Amino acid sequence: MPHPSVLVVTSCTGEKCAKPENQLTLADFKDPEHLQRREAELAEFLCTAGKMYTGMQHLRLMEGVQLLRQALGQDAVDVAILSAGYGLIEENWAIAPYEVTFNNMRVNEVDDWARSLDLHSTFEKAITPYNLIFLLLGENYLRSLTLPVETRPDQTLVFLASNSSTRFIRTLAAKTFILPLSNTDAKRYRYGLVGLKGFLFKRFAEAVCKDAELLKTVYEEPTVFQKVIDQQETQLELTLGLSIPSAKKASKQVIKPQTEDYLAIPPCPPAPNVHLGMQYYIPEWDDRVDPNYGFLTDTLTPGRDPYNDIYAHEIYPSPNYDGILVSKVVVDESKTKRARVEAAGGIHNFIRFPGQIMGDCGAFGYIKEEVPPYNTDEILEYYENLGFNYGVSIDHLIVGPFAQPGEREKRYEITLKNAEDFIKKHRELGYTFTPMGVAQGWNPESYANAVKEVIGMGYDYVALGGLARAQTKEIVPILKAISPHLKPNVRLHLFGVARIEAIPVFRHLGVTSFDSASPLRQAWLSGTKNYHTLSSKTFMAIRVPPTERGLKIKRALESGSVDLETFKRYEQEALDALRQFDVGTLDLETTLKTVLTYSKLIEEQENKTDSKKSIDLEPFYLEILKEKPWNSCKCLICQELGIETVIFRNNDRNRRRGFHNTYVFYKRFKALLEENLDQGSEQLSRLKHLSGVL
Ligand SMILES: [Zn+2]
Repeated sequence: MPHPSVLVVTSCTGEKCAKPENQLTLADFKDPEHLQRREAELAEFLCTAGKMYTGMQHLRLMEGVQLLRQALGQDAVDVAILSAGYGLIEENWAIAPYEVTFNNMRVNEVDDWARSLDLHSTFEKAITPYNLIFLLLGENYLRSLTLPVETRPDQTLVFLASNSSTRFIRTLAAKTFILPLSNTDAKRYRYGLVGLKGFLFKRFAEAVCKDAELLKTVYEEPTVFQKVIDQQETQLELTLGLSIPSAKKASKQVIKPQTEDYLAIPPCPPAPNVHLGMQYYIPEWDDRVDPNYGFLTDTLTPGRDPYNDIYAHEIYPSPNYDGILVSKVVVDESKTKRARVEAAGGIHNFIRFPGQIMGDCGAFGYIKEEVPPYNTDEILEYYENLGFNYGVSIDHLIVGPFAQPGEREKRYEITLKNAEDFIKKHRELGYTFTPMGVAQGWNPESYANAVKEVIGMGYDYVALGGLARAQTKEIVPILKAISPHLKPNVRLHLFGVARIEAIPVFRHLGVTSFDSASPLRQAWLSGTKNYHTLSSKTFMAIRVPPTERGLKIKRALESGSVDLETFKRYEQEALDALRQFDVGTLDLETTLKTVLTYSKLIEEQENKTDSKKSIDLEPFYLEILKEKPWNSCKCLICQELGIETVIFRNNDRNRRRGFHNTYVFYKRFKALLEENLDQGSEQLSRLKHLSGVL
């Protein structure tokens, strides 16, 4: 045995890379079908488990894992995460952000939920192929495994566990070593108790990098683990502080003005289709508001029909997008909705938009299915009957866990086969909408091949899927590989990607349209970047939640532990203060204090049931109140509503703020296009200053 096969099992952490308001909760996990729908809603936040968690334990652990992989190869160690929502999952599983932890469950809740997740036997199966298994689990997580499980004498288990949780570790057939950890240990290792397990694993990994034999030694004699980490000198670049980095520090980093540098255009010739220009599509997901909403009283129009609420393009004198993308999953959301779209006489009438409408199947909605749940005949009919201008062939995403060799080829073939079928039948039956063929892939070569094939089938509009979550630096090489295959008459759509800093590059490489709802949805889903401006600077919206809305507060109210009157008074005072501040009858200091008093009250209530750290709102609020960005925005919404636009409260404010963000994005996008992008670097340096002059 060169090295023992290593598995690390670790707890999920509350801190995640995205924390959308509508993240999954325990209730969502209880019904698989419902979960699938909710995950589709959160598609833009899907991310592999390895990257989702940003808690200290996870970050330190993954740094250690990276070290081992660099030293011993990618297969040196596997990671499994014990998620209180998803159960025991592999590192490369695609998951959505959720707010579920075993930490705040009562013991019988832990036991019940662990049983529904089948943790005991999943865990038993998961560790079978490994020789050396490290467990970095908190008390209730260890409890949830209901040890003992079946192990073998040729296995070694190393537990890093708090003193009190060691009682859940039972005698096993495998060699077992327990490293019990306490506050004293945290001091001794000069690392906070939160994250200590991950930190110690990283220490061990550092030692293994110097001496690879240590893995085998610990496998044979696990008590050596403690000796190794005690001897391993503390690395100075690590967080030596005893506490986790303060929220204040984090907020300062975010707060500094973000000036985006436009990416340099690569030294390759422009794509042959560059003269076709570039268009922005917005994906539609019932983004409507009540036109007669009462902002002072927070009341909806009595007896209104939500389908008659208005879209952004019905508010602004001209739309802030060139077209709209409507996914089939959105149309089919309910029987009523589908019926209303049909009764309206098609998609244009339903969303009251005369411009270009593109239809797709919403591949994120069925990412986990083996094959897409639609067939080409019905989809062709659907696009034609509802009057779409463009219809996208049925594709299957190749991302995250579905990009593994074996699986990815299947999905690649399905996507191409569907594209071929789609255009063939489109021709035969004489449909009138413009067909778009999808190309999926997993690296520049596979994408380029797919695009070549799709163009070969006769398409003059190709769509690239699966890149919504990819980094720009991953997308650019793909576009570079595709670019030579494009033709002067072939358009290229990029699904789910809107990055202002990359637009000149994307256009140079042949992208002629893209879609994204990210500016819109950041208004309520982003933690700190809720209000966008033309200068590219972003602000956090001021949270004044309705007292009775928050679940936790509701519970507190019901149990009588909170006085409703007090809450309501503080809430009204916060709103009044902001409105007075906006018209200049209240000073900044008092306004800030009044708003924060209410926030604190809410926060205290939330912290009672949730141990997660909340960020310090003060510097964010101070900044937005000081700069009053809504005053300098010329959009209709800001002009009409003033400070209401930046108050984080109810759909009618939050979504309007999203409309404003879309307005800002589109203005910046158009300004970029008007600059002639393809005339070399001199133009490019001007682009860099463009945000300043808008
Ligand atoms: Zn505005």
